Amino acid sequence: METTSNRRGRHAEVSGAGFAGLTAATALAQRGWTVRIHEMGAELREQGAGIVLWHNSLKVLKAIGAYDEVMADSMTPPWYETRFQHDSLSHEDFGGLPWRTLTRPHLHKSLLNAALRAGVEICTGSEVVSADPRGRITLASGETLDADLVVGADGVKSKVRDSIGFAQERWKSGDGIIRLLVPRHRAELGPGEWDNVIDFWNLDPRYLRVLYVPCNERELYIALGAPRDDEQGSRTPIDLDLWTSAYPELTPVLRSAAQARDPRYYGYETTYVAEWRRGVVALVGDAAHAMPPALAQGAGCAMANAYTLAVAATEAADGELEEAMERWEQLERPFTDRCQQRSADFAATRRMAEGSQFTLENLETAIYDPTNPNRHALSVSVARP
Ligand SMILES: Cc1cc2nc3c(=O)[nH]c(=O)nc-3n(C[C@H](O)[C@H](O)[C@H](O)COP(=O)(O)OP(=O)(O)OC[C@H]3O[C@@H](n4cnc5c(N)ncnc54)[C@H](O)[C@@H]3O)c2cc1C
Repeated sequence: METTSNRRGRHAEVSGAGFAGLTAATALAQRGWTVRIHEMGAELREQGAGIVLWHNSLKVLKAIGAYDEVMADSMTPPWYETRFQHDSLSHEDFGGLPWRTLTRPHLHKSLLNAALRAGVEICTGSEVVSADPRGRITLASGETLDADLVVGADGVKSKVRDSIGFAQERWKSGDGIIRLLVPRHRAELGPGEWDNVIDFWNLDPRYLRVLYVPCNERELYIALGAPRDDEQGSRTPIDLDLWTSAYPELTPVLRSAAQARDPRYYGYETTYVAEWRRGVVALVGDAAHAMPPALAQGAGCAMANAYTLAVAATEAADGELEEAMERWEQLERPFTDRCQQRSADFAATRRMAEGSQFTLENLETAIYDPTNPNRHALSVSVARP
Protein backbone atom coordinates (compact mmCIF):
# COMPACT_ATOMS: atom_id res chain seq x y z
CA MET A 1 0.00 0.00 0.00
CA GLU A 2 1.30 3.44 -0.91
CA THR A 3 1.46 6.03 1.86
CA THR A 4 3.29 9.01 0.35
CA SER A 5 2.47 12.12 2.30
CA ASN A 6 4.12 14.80 0.24
CA ARG A 7 1.09 17.09 -0.14
CA ARG A 8 0.13 18.01 3.35
CA GLY A 9 -1.86 21.25 3.40
CA ARG A 10 -3.87 20.54 0.24
CA HIS A 11 -7.56 19.90 0.55
CA ALA A 12 -10.08 18.12 -1.70
CA GLU A 13 -13.89 18.12 -1.64
CA VAL A 14 -15.41 15.07 -3.36
CA SER A 15 -19.03 14.76 -4.48
CA GLY A 16 -20.28 11.15 -4.34
CA ALA A 17 -19.30 8.05 -2.32
CA GLY A 18 -19.58 5.52 -5.14
CA PHE A 19 -16.67 3.45 -6.45
CA ALA A 20 -15.08 6.48 -8.17
CA GLY A 21 -15.41 8.94 -5.28
CA LEU A 22 -14.16 6.49 -2.65
CA THR A 23 -11.16 5.55 -4.81
CA ALA A 24 -10.15 9.16 -5.55
CA ALA A 25 -10.62 10.20 -1.92
CA THR A 26 -8.55 7.29 -0.56
CA ALA A 27 -5.71 7.78 -3.02
CA LEU A 28 -5.57 11.53 -2.23
CA ALA A 29 -5.72 11.02 1.55
CA GLN A 30 -2.92 8.46 1.33
CA ARG A 31 -0.85 11.19 -0.32
CA GLY A 32 -1.26 13.70 2.46
CA TRP A 33 -4.39 15.58 1.35
CA THR A 34 -7.24 16.28 3.69
CA VAL A 35 -10.33 14.90 1.96
CA ARG A 36 -14.05 15.22 2.58
CA ILE A 37 -16.66 13.24 0.66
CA HIS A 38 -20.27 14.42 0.37
CA GLU A 39 -22.78 11.64 -0.21
CA MET A 40 -26.37 12.69 -0.80
CA GLY A 41 -27.71 9.31 0.34
CA ALA A 42 -28.61 8.96 4.00
CA GLU A 43 -26.56 5.75 4.18
CA LEU A 44 -23.27 4.61 2.74
CA ARG A 45 -24.22 1.65 0.61
CA GLU A 46 -24.15 0.45 -2.96
CA GLN A 47 -27.33 -0.38 -4.78
CA GLY A 48 -27.14 -3.06 -7.40
CA ALA A 49 -26.13 -6.66 -7.43
CA GLY A 50 -22.83 -8.04 -8.70
CA ILE A 51 -19.84 -6.85 -10.65
CA VAL A 52 -16.92 -8.15 -12.70
CA LEU A 53 -13.52 -6.59 -12.00
CA TRP A 54 -10.41 -6.88 -14.11
CA HIS A 55 -6.67 -6.41 -13.78
CA ASN A 56 -6.93 -2.58 -13.98
CA SER A 57 -9.22 -2.20 -10.99
CA LEU A 58 -7.55 -5.01 -9.03
CA LYS A 59 -4.26 -3.09 -9.35
CA VAL A 60 -5.96 0.05 -8.03
CA LEU A 61 -7.50 -1.89 -5.13
CA LYS A 62 -4.02 -3.15 -4.24
CA ALA A 63 -2.57 0.36 -4.39
CA ILE A 64 -5.22 1.84 -2.07
CA GLY A 65 -5.21 -1.07 0.39
CA ALA A 66 -8.63 -2.58 -0.42
CA TYR A 67 -7.45 -5.67 -2.29
CA ASP A 68 -7.23 -8.20 0.55
CA GLU A 69 -10.77 -7.48 1.74
CA VAL A 70 -12.12 -7.74 -1.82
CA MET A 71 -10.32 -11.05 -2.39
CA ALA A 72 -11.64 -12.54 0.86
CA ASP A 73 -15.21 -12.75 -0.49
CA SER A 74 -14.97 -12.92 -4.29
CA MET A 75 -14.02 -15.52 -6.87
CA THR A 76 -12.39 -16.09 -10.23
CA PRO A 77 -14.74 -18.33 -12.23
CA PRO A 78 -12.99 -20.95 -14.38
CA TRP A 79 -14.48 -19.66 -17.64
CA TYR A 80 -16.55 -16.86 -19.15
CA GLU A 81 -18.91 -18.83 -21.35
CA THR A 82 -21.32 -17.52 -23.99
CA ARG A 83 -24.38 -19.56 -25.02
CA PHE A 84 -26.58 -18.67 -27.98
CA GLN A 85 -30.03 -20.26 -28.28
CA HIS A 86 -28.78 -22.88 -25.73
CA ASP A 87 -25.64 -23.80 -27.72
CA SER A 88 -22.30 -23.10 -26.09
CA LEU A 89 -20.33 -20.79 -28.41
CA SER A 90 -17.22 -19.83 -26.49
CA HIS A 91 -15.28 -20.41 -23.28
CA GLU A 92 -12.84 -17.61 -22.46
CA ASP A 93 -10.24 -17.58 -19.68
CA PHE A 94 -8.46 -14.39 -20.80
CA GLY A 95 -5.08 -16.11 -21.02
CA GLY A 96 -4.33 -15.77 -17.31
CA LEU A 97 -5.37 -12.09 -17.02
CA PRO A 98 -6.52 -11.59 -13.40
CA TRP A 99 -10.28 -11.04 -13.03
CA ARG A 100 -12.76 -11.37 -10.22
CA THR A 101 -16.53 -11.56 -9.64
CA LEU A 102 -18.13 -10.24 -6.45
CA THR A 103 -21.14 -8.46 -5.04
CA ARG A 104 -21.37 -4.69 -5.28
CA PRO A 105 -22.05 -4.27 -1.55
CA HIS A 106 -18.81 -6.14 -0.82
CA LEU A 107 -16.78 -3.94 -3.19
CA HIS A 108 -18.34 -0.81 -1.74
CA LYS A 109 -17.67 -1.91 1.85
CA SER A 110 -14.04 -2.74 1.02
CA LEU A 111 -13.51 0.69 -0.59
CA LEU A 112 -15.28 2.44 2.28
CA ASN A 113 -13.09 0.71 4.86
CA ALA A 114 -9.95 1.71 2.91
CA ALA A 115 -11.19 5.33 2.80
CA LEU A 116 -11.86 5.40 6.55
CA ARG A 117 -8.44 3.88 7.27
CA ALA A 118 -6.85 6.63 5.15
CA GLY A 119 -8.61 9.29 7.24
CA VAL A 120 -11.21 10.45 4.69
CA GLU A 121 -14.09 12.39 6.24
CA ILE A 122 -17.46 11.28 4.89
CA CYS A 123 -20.65 13.33 5.25
CA THR A 124 -23.90 11.50 4.48
CA GLY A 125 -27.13 13.28 3.62
CA SER A 126 -24.93 16.00 2.13
CA GLU A 127 -25.93 16.93 -1.41
CA VAL A 128 -23.62 18.98 -3.62
CA VAL A 129 -25.77 21.24 -5.78
CA SER A 130 -23.07 23.12 -7.68
CA ALA A 131 -19.35 23.60 -8.16
CA ASP A 132 -17.16 26.49 -9.21
CA PRO A 133 -14.10 25.80 -11.41
CA ARG A 134 -12.02 28.02 -9.08
CA GLY A 135 -12.42 25.41 -6.33
CA ARG A 136 -15.69 25.77 -4.46
CA ILE A 137 -18.75 23.60 -3.91
CA THR A 138 -22.19 24.59 -2.69
CA LEU A 139 -24.29 22.18 -0.66
CA ALA A 140 -28.09 21.88 -0.64
CA SER A 141 -27.96 23.46 2.83
CA GLY A 142 -26.53 26.61 1.23
CA GLU A 143 -23.09 26.15 2.80
CA THR A 144 -20.11 26.78 0.53
CA LEU A 145 -16.79 25.00 0.92
CA ASP A 146 -13.44 25.84 -0.70
CA ALA A 147 -10.87 23.34 -1.87
CA ASP A 148 -7.64 23.05 -3.85
CA LEU A 149 -9.31 20.26 -5.84
CA VAL A 150 -12.99 19.41 -6.40
CA VAL A 151 -13.81 15.90 -7.62
CA GLY A 152 -17.18 15.33 -9.29
CA ALA A 153 -17.83 11.62 -8.72
CA ASP A 154 -21.58 12.01 -8.50
CA GLY A 155 -22.64 9.60 -11.22
CA VAL A 156 -24.71 9.92 -14.40
CA LYS A 157 -26.79 12.81 -13.07
CA SER A 158 -23.76 14.74 -11.82
CA LYS A 159 -24.61 18.16 -10.45
CA VAL A 160 -20.95 19.12 -10.37
CA ARG A 161 -20.83 18.54 -14.14
CA ASP A 162 -24.18 20.12 -14.97
CA SER A 163 -23.83 23.18 -12.74
CA ILE A 164 -20.56 24.10 -14.46
CA GLY A 165 -22.06 23.42 -17.87
CA PHE A 166 -19.63 20.89 -19.34
CA ALA A 167 -20.59 20.25 -22.98
CA GLN A 168 -21.99 16.73 -23.12
CA GLU A 169 -23.98 14.15 -25.01
CA ARG A 170 -26.09 11.64 -23.12
CA TRP A 171 -28.23 8.86 -24.46
CA LYS A 172 -29.88 5.57 -23.45
CA SER A 173 -29.52 2.33 -25.42
CA GLY A 174 -32.55 0.37 -26.56
CA ASP A 175 -31.67 -2.46 -24.17
CA GLY A 176 -31.39 -2.66 -20.42
CA ILE A 177 -31.19 -5.15 -17.62
CA ILE A 178 -32.74 -6.20 -14.28
CA ARG A 179 -29.90 -6.84 -11.81
CA LEU A 180 -30.46 -9.16 -8.84
CA LEU A 181 -28.57 -11.07 -6.16
CA VAL A 182 -29.99 -14.54 -5.42
CA PRO A 183 -28.73 -17.68 -3.61
CA ARG A 184 -26.50 -19.95 -5.73
CA HIS A 185 -28.96 -22.92 -5.72
CA ARG A 186 -26.14 -25.19 -6.94
CA ALA A 187 -27.69 -28.44 -5.81
CA GLU A 188 -31.01 -27.69 -7.51
CA LEU A 189 -29.39 -26.58 -10.77
CA GLY A 190 -28.16 -30.11 -11.32
CA PRO A 191 -25.02 -31.16 -13.20
CA GLY A 192 -23.28 -28.43 -15.20
CA GLU A 193 -20.48 -25.87 -15.15
CA TRP A 194 -22.27 -23.62 -12.65
CA ASP A 195 -19.08 -21.94 -11.41
CA ASN A 196 -18.65 -20.28 -14.82
CA VAL A 197 -19.89 -16.86 -15.75
CA ILE A 198 -22.48 -17.77 -18.38
CA ASP A 199 -23.89 -15.21 -20.78
CA PHE A 200 -27.12 -16.79 -22.08
CA TRP A 201 -28.53 -15.19 -25.25
CA ASN A 202 -31.85 -15.82 -26.99
CA LEU A 203 -32.70 -13.62 -29.96
CA ASP A 204 -35.38 -15.89 -31.41
CA PRO A 205 -38.34 -15.58 -30.91
CA ARG A 206 -37.35 -12.44 -28.94
CA TYR A 207 -34.36 -10.86 -27.25
CA LEU A 208 -34.07 -12.20 -23.70
CA ARG A 209 -30.64 -12.48 -22.14
CA VAL A 210 -29.48 -13.83 -18.77
CA LEU A 211 -26.02 -13.00 -17.46
CA TYR A 212 -25.23 -15.60 -14.79
CA VAL A 213 -22.35 -14.51 -12.49
CA PRO A 214 -21.39 -16.51 -9.37
CA CYS A 215 -19.90 -14.07 -6.82
CA ASN A 216 -18.84 -16.45 -4.04
CA GLU A 217 -20.02 -19.76 -2.56
CA ARG A 218 -23.34 -18.26 -1.47
CA GLU A 219 -24.41 -15.52 -3.86
CA LEU A 220 -25.24 -15.36 -7.54
CA TYR A 221 -25.53 -12.15 -9.55
CA ILE A 222 -28.16 -12.60 -12.21
CA ALA A 223 -28.91 -9.93 -14.81
CA LEU A 224 -31.97 -10.31 -17.00
CA GLY A 225 -31.74 -8.34 -20.24
CA ALA A 226 -34.65 -7.21 -22.40
CA PRO A 227 -35.38 -4.24 -24.67
CA ARG A 228 -36.69 -1.12 -22.97
CA ASP A 229 -39.84 -1.25 -25.06
CA ASP A 230 -40.57 -4.88 -24.11
CA GLU A 231 -43.08 -4.28 -21.32
CA GLN A 232 -43.20 -7.95 -20.29
CA GLY A 233 -39.42 -8.58 -20.42
CA SER A 234 -38.49 -5.39 -18.55
CA ARG A 235 -41.25 -5.80 -15.96
CA THR A 236 -40.41 -5.97 -12.24
CA PRO A 237 -41.01 -8.13 -10.30
CA ILE A 238 -39.95 -10.39 -13.16
CA ASP A 239 -42.51 -12.36 -15.16
CA LEU A 240 -41.55 -15.84 -13.97
CA ASP A 241 -43.41 -17.73 -16.71
CA LEU A 242 -41.72 -15.71 -19.45
CA TRP A 243 -38.21 -16.21 -18.08
CA THR A 244 -38.57 -19.90 -17.17
CA SER A 245 -40.05 -20.70 -20.58
CA ALA A 246 -36.97 -19.08 -22.21
CA TYR A 247 -34.47 -20.58 -19.72
CA PRO A 248 -35.97 -23.68 -18.03
CA GLU A 249 -32.47 -24.80 -16.93
CA LEU A 250 -32.33 -21.72 -14.65
CA THR A 251 -35.71 -22.26 -12.97
CA PRO A 252 -34.41 -22.46 -9.33
CA VAL A 253 -32.54 -19.14 -9.57
CA LEU A 254 -35.32 -17.47 -11.56
CA ARG A 255 -37.79 -18.43 -8.83
CA SER A 256 -35.62 -16.59 -6.31
CA ALA A 257 -35.26 -13.68 -8.74
CA ALA A 258 -39.05 -13.37 -8.87
CA GLN A 259 -39.12 -12.91 -5.09
CA ALA A 260 -36.25 -10.40 -4.89
CA ARG A 261 -36.88 -7.19 -2.95
CA ASP A 262 -36.80 -3.87 -4.81
CA PRO A 263 -36.07 -5.21 -8.30
CA ARG A 264 -35.28 -2.46 -10.85
CA TYR A 265 -34.82 -2.33 -14.60
CA TYR A 266 -31.69 -0.33 -15.56
CA GLY A 267 -31.40 1.25 -19.00
CA TYR A 268 -27.86 1.39 -20.42
CA GLU A 269 -26.71 5.02 -20.23
CA THR A 270 -23.87 6.67 -22.09
CA THR A 271 -22.44 10.06 -21.15
CA TYR A 272 -19.84 11.67 -23.36
CA VAL A 273 -18.39 14.87 -21.87
CA ALA A 274 -16.27 17.14 -24.07
CA GLU A 275 -13.71 17.65 -21.29
CA TRP A 276 -13.17 15.97 -17.96
CA ARG A 277 -11.91 19.06 -16.05
CA ARG A 278 -12.44 22.77 -15.77
CA GLY A 279 -10.21 24.88 -13.52
CA VAL A 280 -9.54 22.74 -10.45
CA VAL A 281 -12.70 20.64 -10.85
CA ALA A 282 -12.29 17.11 -12.27
CA LEU A 283 -15.00 14.62 -13.23
CA VAL A 284 -14.44 10.89 -12.67
CA GLY A 285 -16.53 7.76 -13.12
CA ASP A 286 -20.04 7.80 -14.58
CA ALA A 287 -20.19 11.59 -14.24
CA ALA A 288 -17.55 11.71 -16.98
CA HIS A 289 -17.97 8.52 -18.99
CA ALA A 290 -20.97 6.28 -18.23
CA MET A 291 -21.00 3.39 -20.70
CA PRO A 292 -23.11 0.30 -21.44
CA PRO A 293 -21.86 -2.71 -19.46
CA ALA A 294 -20.95 -4.85 -22.51
CA LEU A 295 -17.27 -5.11 -21.57
CA ALA A 296 -17.89 -4.78 -17.80
CA GLN A 297 -15.55 -1.81 -17.63
CA GLY A 298 -17.52 1.18 -16.28
CA ALA A 299 -16.34 0.79 -12.70
CA GLY A 300 -12.88 -0.36 -13.83
CA CYS A 301 -12.37 2.84 -15.81
CA ALA A 302 -13.89 4.85 -12.95
CA MET A 303 -11.43 3.47 -10.40
CA ALA A 304 -8.46 3.73 -12.78
CA ASN A 305 -9.18 7.38 -13.63
CA ALA A 306 -9.91 8.29 -10.01
CA TYR A 307 -6.59 6.80 -8.94
CA THR A 308 -4.50 8.40 -11.70
CA LEU A 309 -6.17 11.77 -11.01
CA ALA A 310 -5.03 11.55 -7.38
CA VAL A 311 -1.46 10.74 -8.44
CA ALA A 312 -1.36 13.53 -11.05
CA ALA A 313 -2.84 16.12 -8.68
CA THR A 314 -0.36 15.19 -5.96
CA GLU A 315 2.61 15.40 -8.30
CA ALA A 316 1.60 18.90 -9.47
CA ALA A 317 3.76 21.68 -8.08
CA ASP A 318 1.98 24.43 -6.18
CA GLY A 319 0.04 26.60 -8.62
CA GLU A 320 0.26 24.02 -11.42
CA LEU A 321 -2.72 21.84 -10.63
CA GLU A 322 -4.73 22.88 -13.67
CA GLU A 323 -1.88 22.03 -16.05
CA ALA A 324 -1.38 18.68 -14.30
CA MET A 325 -5.07 17.83 -14.71
CA GLU A 326 -4.94 18.75 -18.38
CA ARG A 327 -2.03 16.32 -18.84
CA TRP A 328 -3.93 13.68 -16.84
CA GLU A 329 -6.90 13.92 -19.18
CA GLN A 330 -4.71 13.85 -22.28
CA LEU A 331 -2.96 10.67 -21.09
CA GLU A 332 -5.82 8.69 -19.57
CA ARG A 333 -8.81 9.67 -21.62
CA PRO A 334 -8.05 7.90 -24.92
CA PHE A 335 -8.25 4.47 -23.21
CA THR A 336 -11.64 5.22 -21.68
CA ASP A 337 -12.95 6.79 -24.89
CA ARG A 338 -12.05 3.68 -26.88
CA CYS A 339 -13.62 1.40 -24.27
CA GLN A 340 -16.77 3.52 -24.21
CA GLN A 341 -16.98 3.41 -28.01
CA ARG A 342 -16.57 -0.37 -28.10
CA SER A 343 -19.15 -0.82 -25.33
CA ALA A 344 -21.61 1.38 -27.24
CA ASP A 345 -21.02 -0.65 -30.43
CA PHE A 346 -21.71 -3.93 -28.63
CA ALA A 347 -24.84 -2.51 -27.00
CA ALA A 348 -26.15 -1.24 -30.34
CA THR A 349 -25.44 -4.43 -32.33
CA ARG A 350 -25.85 -7.14 -29.62
CA ARG A 351 -22.72 -8.71 -31.16
CA MET A 352 -21.83 -10.20 -27.75
CA ALA A 353 -24.33 -12.92 -28.63
CA GLU A 354 -21.65 -14.23 -31.05
CA GLY A 355 -19.24 -14.97 -28.16
CA SER A 356 -15.44 -14.56 -28.19
CA GLN A 357 -15.76 -10.79 -27.70
CA PHE A 358 -12.82 -10.54 -25.33
CA THR A 359 -10.14 -9.96 -27.94
CA LEU A 360 -6.88 -8.26 -26.96
CA GLU A 361 -8.26 -5.02 -28.38
CA ASN A 362 -11.50 -5.27 -26.41
CA LEU A 363 -9.56 -6.07 -23.24
CA GLU A 364 -7.38 -2.98 -23.65
CA THR A 365 -8.57 -1.19 -20.49
CA ALA A 366 -8.86 -4.45 -18.55
CA ILE A 367 -5.17 -5.17 -19.22
CA TYR A 368 -4.11 -1.62 -18.37
CA ASP A 369 -2.20 -1.04 -15.14
CA PRO A 370 -3.07 2.46 -13.85
CA THR A 371 -0.50 2.09 -11.07
CA ASN A 372 2.47 1.52 -13.39
CA PRO A 373 4.31 4.81 -14.05
CA ASN A 374 5.46 3.38 -17.44
CA ARG A 375 1.95 2.33 -18.49
CA HIS A 376 1.60 4.60 -21.50
CA ALA A 377 4.68 3.20 -23.20
CA LEU A 378 3.56 -0.37 -22.45
CA SER A 379 -0.02 -0.08 -23.71
CA VAL A 380 0.79 1.24 -27.19
CA SER A 381 0.87 -2.30 -28.54
CA VAL A 382 -2.83 -2.96 -27.84
CA ALA A 383 -4.18 0.52 -28.64
CA ARG A 384 -6.09 1.06 -31.85
CA PRO A 385 -4.09 2.92 -34.47
C1 LIG B 1 -26.28 -3.24 -15.64
C2 LIG B 1 -24.90 -2.73 -15.34
C3 LIG B 1 -23.87 -3.63 -15.14
C4 LIG B 1 -22.56 -3.17 -14.91
N1 LIG B 1 -21.55 -4.08 -14.73
C5 LIG B 1 -20.30 -3.64 -14.55
C6 LIG B 1 -19.23 -4.57 -14.36
O1 LIG B 1 -19.42 -5.80 -14.33
N2 LIG B 1 -17.97 -4.08 -14.20
C7 LIG B 1 -17.72 -2.73 -14.20
O2 LIG B 1 -16.54 -2.33 -14.07
N3 LIG B 1 -18.71 -1.83 -14.35
C8 LIG B 1 -19.98 -2.24 -14.50
N4 LIG B 1 -20.99 -1.33 -14.65
C9 LIG B 1 -20.69 0.11 -14.54
C10 LIG B 1 -20.54 0.57 -13.10
O3 LIG B 1 -21.64 0.14 -12.32
C11 LIG B 1 -20.45 2.10 -13.02
O4 LIG B 1 -19.56 2.57 -14.01
C12 LIG B 1 -19.94 2.53 -11.65
O5 LIG B 1 -20.78 2.07 -10.63
C13 LIG B 1 -19.83 4.05 -11.60
O6 LIG B 1 -19.39 4.45 -10.32
P1 LIG B 1 -19.43 5.97 -9.90
O7 LIG B 1 -18.82 6.04 -8.55
O8 LIG B 1 -18.86 6.82 -10.98
O9 LIG B 1 -20.98 6.38 -9.88
P2 LIG B 1 -22.17 5.90 -8.92
O10 LIG B 1 -22.03 4.46 -8.57
O11 LIG B 1 -23.41 6.33 -9.58
O12 LIG B 1 -21.95 6.72 -7.57
C14 LIG B 1 -22.28 8.07 -7.48
C15 LIG B 1 -22.52 8.42 -6.01
O13 LIG B 1 -22.73 9.82 -5.90
C16 LIG B 1 -23.87 10.07 -5.10
N5 LIG B 1 -24.43 11.36 -5.56
C17 LIG B 1 -25.09 11.58 -6.72
N6 LIG B 1 -25.38 12.90 -6.84
C18 LIG B 1 -24.87 13.49 -5.74
C19 LIG B 1 -24.83 14.85 -5.29
N7 LIG B 1 -25.37 15.83 -6.01
N8 LIG B 1 -24.23 15.13 -4.12
C20 LIG B 1 -23.66 14.13 -3.38
N9 LIG B 1 -23.67 12.83 -3.74
C21 LIG B 1 -24.25 12.52 -4.91
C22 LIG B 1 -24.79 8.87 -5.34
O14 LIG B 1 -25.72 8.71 -4.30
C23 LIG B 1 -23.76 7.74 -5.43
O15 LIG B 1 -23.46 7.22 -4.16
C24 LIG B 1 -22.30 -1.77 -14.88
C25 LIG B 1 -23.35 -0.85 -15.05
C26 LIG B 1 -24.65 -1.32 -15.29
C27 LIG B 1 -25.76 -0.31 -15.49
